Amino acid sequence: MENFQREHLGTSEVTGIVDERTWNEIIDRPPVRRAAVLIDPGHSPIHPGTAAKDGTPEYDMNLLQAKIVKAELDRAKIPADIFDPVGDPRDSIGQKAAGYSMFLSLHHNATDRKPHYTCVMVHPTKAKPQSIAFAKKLSTAVANAIGQKDFGVMKNSVTVLSTSENTNCPICVLCESYFLDAIATGAEAEKLSTKAAYAIASTVIAELSPA
Ligand SMILES: [Zn+2]
Repeated sequence: MENFQREHLGTSEVTGIVDERTWNEIIDRPPVRRAAVLIDPGHSPIHPGTAAKDGTPEYDMNLLQAKIVKAELDRAKIPADIFDPVGDPRDSIGQKAAGYSMFLSLHHNATDRKPHYTCVMVHPTKAKPQSIAFAKKLSTAVANAIGQKDFGVMKNSVTVLSTSENTNCPICVLCESYFLDAIATGAEAEKLSTKAAYAIASTVIAELSPA
């Protein structure tokens, strides 16, 4: 109880006694569902993120990956939801991770003049140990699947990671499969994103399947 109060109410409220405020926090936090994944296809049709050289938007590739990952999880009987808000403020997406076993935000990077690589982002201060461990595995799996350099875990304080880590969701990561703006055509991007999506799905399934 002390730990719960410290985490959700702040250190000044740590009494070990379930008072009204503590109780309200507890009922606001549904118990972690067994092996359920919330998938966030990053960006939206209005704010599509980066683009391939022919204009293919990042959002389309993120959504393509989200659908493949969900279909693979369905086949593995792991419940998964795609949360793709239309006109919903993006800041609220992370909060919806409450009650899930994993929050998976799918993105494609834009070039930063470094050699291209795959990376998986976690929050710099809030990331739970499981987020960091899983991010490492995911980055390696995606990099291997598409023949990119594995940059590994990258720390980023982007809002979805901050808000999702604030929930009881134990694994919150943001996957950047590759640098989309370095790719010439939508067809090429689709091939890479599809390969990456299958690698993402199998890594998630391995993580959440009972040993
Ligand atoms: Zn993005």
